[in-house]
Amino acid sequence: MSTFKVYGQCPGALTPMAAADGLVMRIRPLHGQLTADQARGIAALSERFGRGLVELTSRANLQIRGIAEGDHPKMVEDLLRLGLIDTAPAVERARNIIVTPFHRSNDGTMDLAQALSEATTRAPRLPAKFGLAIDVGPAPVLQDISTDIRLERASNASIILRPDGASSGKEVSEADAPEELLALMDWFISTGGVTEGRGRMRQHLARGARLPNAFVNGLPPAPAFRVPGAGPAEGGILAAAAFGLLPSATLAALADLGGSIRMTPWRALFLPGHSSLPALDGLLLNPADAILRTHACTGAPGCTQAIAETRQIARAIAPHLPEEATLHVSGCAKGCAHPAPATATLVATANGFALIPHGKSNDPPERILTSEDLMRSPATLFMAP
Ligand code: SF4
Repeated sequence: MSTFKVYGQCPGALTPMAAADGLVMRIRPLHGQLTADQARGIAALSERFGRGLVELTSRANLQIRGIAEGDHPKMVEDLLRLGLIDTAPAVERARNIIVTPFHRSNDGTMDLAQALSEATTRAPRLPAKFGLAIDVGPAPVLQDISTDIRLERASNASIILRPDGASSGKEVSEADAPEELLALMDWFISTGGVTEGRGRMRQHLARGARLPNAFVNGLPPAPAFRVPGAGPAEGGILAAAAFGLLPSATLAALADLGGSIRMTPWRALFLPGHSSLPALDGLLLNPADAILRTHACTGAPGCTQAIAETRQIARAIAPHLPEEATLHVSGCAKGCAHPAPATATLVATANGFALIPHGKSNDPPERILTSEDLMRSPATLFMAP
């Protein structure tokens, strides 16, 4: 019998979440990348103990779900052997870091990721979702990603530490960045940030918390770079998967191509050094593919809170998406798959799907539609009232 603790939310590998279809284990690859052996190992574990699918999350992590409780210790043992698990749940929890996938060798990103990962082992206890983005590659690409502290470049290429929600950041040297990060975390706690709402930096600043002058009078970040779509990108190729669901055999095949595999927060993997990929099951390489503008959470039967199935409906409606339109189908009002507004958001309710045009899953609905309504005239979802 296993002795681990099952958590309700924010699972890790050591602290899995119990879902309706078994345990969910979230793996946080060190510095946002996998070696070929690690990728092959994850694919094999998913095949053996999970559902043969690997989930790419919006936090640039991997998830394996559908694991029997009795198989968890074996999974932990194998992930430890692959160097994919931290030494303790608290270390795993604190290492909530997204790294730009487009870093170049010798641009300092990996050194900073190493130093800052080590620093998080000394971090104070922070809210579960509190995170860090390391975005010091050739151009900023993570500015739209939800996080709490950002390490990024200013227009003059110097490195700044910027609290999420602040318009400027404190200039730091690479050597000082770890201690500066810890000091900012301490400031967040000492000024009451940890106890307010869900404990996020942006909300703390919005409520009036006053940052030290070095941040207020610091440098603004360099302008954001447009994130490339699926397919070839500078320095490699972005391989996406519908709803982030990648068949484990496809992950193994990508590993066999050689080289590292980098995680991204866009439900895609970045393969540096490749300009093309073989056709592989579940891999999306066309940036215009409407399914890439379609979001759907686990829904029923996998999620205990889901009121209806989501992904089949999303797949059926996706071909009817007008150019540029986005669709979000959510199994409940929580909206896990897409916290932002979509052109059409559909939320499962006891009476059918609530349609929310140009809104988020918890916004007021315009009307309720049955599944039959949705299938009869899906294009009307995207029409102005
Ligand atoms: S949005 Fe609701 S149904 Fe969907 S995964 Fe989250 S909690 Fe479950």
